[in-house]
Amino acid sequence: GAMVAVMGGVDAIVFNVGSSSLKADVVETNSGRTCASARVERVGGAATVRLDGAPASACAAADHAEALAAVTGFLDAAGPFDAVGHRVAHGGDRFKAPALLDEAAVADVDALAAIAPLHVPPAVATIRAARARWPDLPHWGVFDTAFHATLPPRAQTYALDAATAQAHGIRRYGFHGTSHSYVAALAATFLKADLRALRIVSCHLGNGASVTAIEQGRSVETSMGMTPLEGLVMGTRCGDLDPGVILHLLRSGLGVDEVDDLLNRRSGLAGLSGTGGDLRDIEERAAAGDDACRRALQVFTHRLRKHIGAMVAVMGGVDAIVFTAGIGENSAVVRERATQRLEFLGAILDEDRNRDVRLSDAAPVAAFHAEHSRVALLAVRTDESRAIAEQIAAAMAERATERSSRGIPIAVSARHVHLTRAAVDVLFGQGHALTPRAPLSQPGQFACEEQVDIIGPKRTIERVRVLGPERPACQIEVSRTDEFFLGLDAPVRASGDVRGSPGVTLRGPAGTVTVPEGVICAWRHIHMHPDDATHFGVADKDVVEVEVCGGPRRLTFGDVLVRVHPEFRLEMHVDTDEANAAELMPGAEGELAGTGGEARVLRKVR
Ligand code: ADP
Repeated sequence: GAMVAVMGGVDAIVFNVGSSSLKADVVETNSGRTCASARVERVGGAATVRLDGAPASACAAADHAEALAAVTGFLDAAGPFDAVGHRVAHGGDRFKAPALLDEAAVADVDALAAIAPLHVPPAVATIRAARARWPDLPHWGVFDTAFHATLPPRAQTYALDAATAQAHGIRRYGFHGTSHSYVAALAATFLKADLRALRIVSCHLGNGASVTAIEQGRSVETSMGMTPLEGLVMGTRCGDLDPGVILHLLRSGLGVDEVDDLLNRRSGLAGLSGTGGDLRDIEERAAAGDDACRRALQVFTHRLRKHIGAMVAVMGGVDAIVFTAGIGENSAVVRERATQRLEFLGAILDEDRNRDVRLSDAAPVAAFHAEHSRVALLAVRTDESRAIAEQIAAAMAERATERSSRGIPIAVSARHVHLTRAAVDVLFGQGHALTPRAPLSQPGQFACEEQVDIIGPKRTIERVRVLGPERPACQIEVSRTDEFFLGLDAPVRASGDVRGSPGVTLRGPAGTVTVPEGVICAWRHIHMHPDDATHFGVADKDVVEVEVCGGPRRLTFGDVLVRVHPEFRLEMHVDTDEANAAELMPGAEGELAGTGGEARVLRKVR
């Protein structure tokens, strides 16, 4: 899981739900492969399920939770997974990037049902069911509106009374963002150009359709608005409409739900042609002479051309026009009609190349402009599940980087002693119990009220703090400066490793003890919980470098020992000499040195 994310790839289940459908794809971002696909259609009715390429079969799916239950076994067989992705149509003002869906975030998504009542509730139902089913995996929401968060205010704002618009959250949000950004990036790669140097018009033409102007890699204008109803003619949606028409219909006696049904489900290609709105049927019938279908095609392509022109005007020019989704990838007729009168922009269509466009996984981009066209005309295969998984992989890698560059609190260990039970008896009296004075940051450890004097060959250091609890061997941890003062030569050692170290005499109120060995200069180290070690990409006994910045004397400590234990809390320990060398202030933090979010491990002990 986390380590894979550090490397930049994830295996994810991606859910994409509609009001009566649930799609789930298992995507492996490193290879770009979709390993498994499940589709449940007609959720809430006579539901059917299709697993990979197999024929559809009936299934029980009264709601989205049941639809999910119908495919979990199939999906699990393609595991294990690092994450679950959820496509969410509307992110409102809250979600401008992929978001980890914890309980609070799910509640925030749920609240968006107020502005997107058709699209958000099925997504939330699926998110809740999936979180219950895969509680240990991170669940990410990826929002169709997020890519359009960069729309400038002039493009976001409807010319409504400002207070009313504000009160109702009425503005242009835009949709299909995941697809628009994905195909724009593919187009740039295909053109061997930097995405930030291109002006792109991206036409996503599926059952829903929208056009986006992409400048410097950012969405600057888009045809869909507060809801996915505005803009282009779609399969069953009307797109742009004089708002006066809605008032007229309401005043002539149609109910709100009837108008909703008309605009969302009985309009667009379907309404114009008298068919179900599938472009393939319409093209066939138009070719056979059906006037309504011809008209539908004309209205569709005229509206598209008009919007392309508007997007170019917004950017003051264009370098590539991209067609994607079911219609954009497959309909040569639509691409030709939408681009055949764009010579004035420098976009010159090559009719033969356009007819020969065949997209595949191996060749997801095809150009269909003439040799001398200044503007590239491209058909690009979109893959929203893959795009969602890639966004999640990027977000997880970013989090891992953030975590590994997270500051490590540094604590300064003043000289101290650890005592055996026997030593406590001699120094403080038979049966004396050490008196805790203050807990230490590592669980179970405490500073004691008790103090002892350390009597060295040259001098004595008085009143040195005893740390509890008692240990199997006495250990006296002092700094180099202390050693000189005492007249000792102690080795740098990890705690517990006192073999061959010098001995010393300790004096307490009840007696003196001479320990044969046990004086060490503590090896600077970092206590880590196993989770910390995973986040930092290090293991127990690794030796790393820690940079201390932010203080007056910036310093990099080499030879820092990593110590991992389930009871440890993240903290680096240095002695007073080291602290003074770096002029550490209270609350000081260090960072692991390394690149790309991974700590550089200098060596391993043993
Ligand atoms: P969705 O928005 O539901 O994901 P798609 O991207 O699959 O939809 O696009 C569906 C549309 O693409 C339909 O209108 C369908 O007729 C059209 N389409 C798919 N294949 C072809 C084709 N070979 N020729 C023309 N249109 C096609």
